[in-house]
Amino acid sequence: MTHVIDGNAVAQRIRDGLGEAIETLAANGTTPTLATVLMSDDPASETYVSMKQDDCEEVGIEAIDVEIDPDAPAEELFETVEELNADDDVDGILVQMPVPDHVDQRAVLRAIDPEKDVDGFHPENVGRLVAGDARYKPCTPHGIQKLLEAADVDTEGKDAVVVGRSDIVGKPMANLFIQKAPGGNATTTVCHSRTEDLAAKTRAADIVVAAAGVPEMIDGSMLSDGVVVIDVGINRVDADTEKGYELVGDVDFESAKEKASAITPVPGGVGPMTRAMLLYNTVKAAGSRADVEIELP
Ligand code: NAD
Repeated sequence: MTHVIDGNAVAQRIRDGLGEAIETLAANGTTPTLATVLMSDDPASETYVSMKQDDCEEVGIEAIDVEIDPDAPAEELFETVEELNADDDVDGILVQMPVPDHVDQRAVLRAIDPEKDVDGFHPENVGRLVAGDARYKPCTPHGIQKLLEAADVDTEGKDAVVVGRSDIVGKPMANLFIQKAPGGNATTTVCHSRTEDLAAKTRAADIVVAAAGVPEMIDGSMLSDGVVVIDVGINRVDADTEKGYELVGDVDFESAKEKASAITPVPGGVGPMTRAMLLYNTVKAAGSRADVEIELP
């Protein structure tokens, strides 16, 4: 029987655990606070930010919502980030990407105080992750580690194949898998758009993390029996639904499920974990900034 990993249930457990940490912080006079900054009128970005705000409220994190006109000069965004850096009440800062073309995205990531960089994308935090001394693990790969742990999948000594090399998913995932640490110790291969014979790589894997953004590109014929499949992809494809589309992953779920010992669905797999781990990092930031010891789930 294939174990379909329930990301909603694992995310709920994380949120419950964070609730306890938030109570400890409250007893010490601290309310974790996340500032989101949106400089876009893209409906998807607007939705992501409002979901993050709602998630915060649900667990007792204060959410500050800053919106900047996408046509405003870049300086306005940098000034906002500076103000949030200096604001002692703000524990975490998240600038929703992508920012408009006239704003240098890398400069934005560098401008955020690394202690408040709850996405974990500041070069200092990327460096610490690679060096095995992570301050904030990026939310999606961290969530995947938690999912694997909850599904009793031991990564040690396993062959892991990560499909995708983005800065937000593929690279940090691979870096976490190779660390000499729990959830790591995997022999890791990173595949990408220039990989020749992807199927040969995925067939040799014990664990496949699919993060390419290509609808259902990995099917059962590319997998071996007993593989663990983590599907990060969220792709809109045209469909005869009310909205005119449906969401599918990077994995063809039905054929992959025939081979897999465990698999995540889309939706309801990695997505809820990414959201939960942002809350985790915000609570962690609040604990370390207030110098209060908290237990994290
Ligand atoms: P990206 O576009 O930045 O990177 C995609 C990567 O996949 C690239 O490195 C590219 O080299 C590789 N790739 C593209 N086509 C390939 C192919 N045919 N074969 C092998 N590799 C190929 O994307 P991203 O930001 O890493 O996101 C990947 C997917 O995950 C998207 O569908 C995105 O929506 C989704 N996503 C989901 C979550 C979540 O919480 N579930 C979080 C982030 C991203």
